[in-house]
Amino acid sequence: MPIGFMLLKYLACDFSSLETICRRCGRHQVYDTSMLMARHGGYVSIPELKHIVAADCPDRQATGSGDACQIHFSQIETPRQHKWPH
Ligand SMILES: [Zn+2]
Repeated sequence: MPIGFMLLKYLACDFSSLETICRRCGRHQVYDTSMLMARHGGYVSIPELKHIVAADCPDRQATGSGDACQIHFSQIETPRQHKWPH
């Protein structure tokens, strides 16, 4: 399944927590999946979730695609390939 169509509720089946890493600003944070579900609901897509968790990233507002925040979920995507690991 393409990553853009993944919903939080599917991830919640496999992961009790989600680790986010941003190569740009070096942030590294672990979110409790059930907390994210409670706060945002299960029908949040992964791209939407990135917007939410990266909202306070210092590079989020940067102009130019090369400078934008490059946050990703380490368990389900790799920075280079964006491939579903299964
Ligand atoms: Zn960032």
